[in-house]
Amino acid sequence: MFDKILIANRGEIALRVMRACREMGIHSVAVHSTADSDAMHVRMADEAICIGPPSSTDSYLSIPAIISACEVTGAQAIHPGYGFLSENARFVQIVEDHGLTFIGPTAEHIRIMGDKITAKDTIKALGVPCVPGSEGGVADLVEAKTLGEEIGYPVIVKATAGGGGRGMKVAKTAADMERAFQTARSEAKAAFGNDEVYIEKYLTTPRHIEVQVFGDGKGKAVHLGERDCSLQRRHQKVLEEAPGPSITSKERAEIGKICADAVAEINYAGAGTIEFLYENGEFYFIEMNTRLQVEHPVTEAIFGVDLVREQIRVASGLPLSFEQDDLKINGHAIEARINAEKVPNFSPSPGRITQYHAPGGLGVRMDSALYDGYRIPPYYDSLIAKLIVHGRDRDEALARMSRALGELIVDGVDSTVPLFRDLLEEPDLHSGDYNIHWLEQWLDRTY
Ligand code: ADP
Repeated sequence: MFDKILIANRGEIALRVMRACREMGIHSVAVHSTADSDAMHVRMADEAICIGPPSSTDSYLSIPAIISACEVTGAQAIHPGYGFLSENARFVQIVEDHGLTFIGPTAEHIRIMGDKITAKDTIKALGVPCVPGSEGGVADLVEAKTLGEEIGYPVIVKATAGGGGRGMKVAKTAADMERAFQTARSEAKAAFGNDEVYIEKYLTTPRHIEVQVFGDGKGKAVHLGERDCSLQRRHQKVLEEAPGPSITSKERAEIGKICADAVAEINYAGAGTIEFLYENGEFYFIEMNTRLQVEHPVTEAIFGVDLVREQIRVASGLPLSFEQDDLKINGHAIEARINAEKVPNFSPSPGRITQYHAPGGLGVRMDSALYDGYRIPPYYDSLIAKLIVHGRDRDEALARMSRALGELIVDGVDSTVPLFRDLLEEPDLHSGDYNIHWLEQWLDRTY
């Protein structure tokens, strides 16, 4: 096992990784920009090292700065968290070339899943159901129009290099195709420097269901059920839950096995998430994320496992600490992603926290790097806290979420706490009856 791990991240996820390290008796090294000198992850780490100025490009994304920090501190492995360098295949290659361990999958797996066409081809060949669509990239408008007719409108044009919901355009009818195709291509070119696009059937009322998988890198893998992340705004998840309220145990076992077998087949190592759209009882693959996800705690809550601990174990060469049959669901968990943003336009609201009080009690977990007097810097993501609740069933989890939101105090900046309080009053949320468009429609009529 490693003696020392460097955490190449900040905020709540840096604390999350540090907590696992501490419980495993591993020293943690925090890295930080000059804007984060007073951040909680710096205070809580065994060691901290400044790696550059506020701009992420020169600090949290600076590969030379992070590799140097490992060499200076003697860290043997790097945990990337999510975001920043977590899905950067070049970084992983450089880490390995320096004799260090990257806590995550191989550079090759990251590269395959980072290109959506290659990812879809690979996943399809492994027997995972995909959204019907073009075979690979679409060369020109003529081909796009032919495909539109074949697949049947509406269709969606997507950038192969896409991410964060960019480079995606819907063509409702044949008349829309020219605009959708050209706009998706130019957006993709501008955002990713790669204008290759592909076409898929556009599903009109799906839910977003994702399957958590875990591989040992040696041909063995398990699944840890699904999360429902249908409550989204601009393709960004807002509230997540596990298990999915619309998924039966038979569906879970079937899709779970398909996903676990697929990643076992490619000797995948560590945590991964296979994302699907789910409509009329069918699953359609959209992408795979080769990292720990923001919403992993809801899975941890219902399975009683520590996914970060497991990532570290697998990266050190140990086998998985559980078999598929050991993994049993207990109750229901919900996560609210709390951002420092002003509703209704969701503009970032950095600044000083004048008062912070975290909720507590049975079944409540608060993953946050906030403290009284903390100054949220304007340079990074606006996620400030994840409130996770666990109950014996969905109703209990919802009641616990309302209760916990009532106890939570975040003063000094605008936050999405009041939005969650309003959301928890909604009958549709309680019935579990929503698809990926519901939240935006609710926001439009509520604010
Ligand atoms: P990104 O990597 O940019 O997040 P994804 O492929 O994961 O892109 O898709 C993000 C979101 O876009 C999905 O959660 C869904 O809301 C929407 N979407 C993507 N593909 C389709 C599709 N074929 N039909 C309907 N909605 C889609």
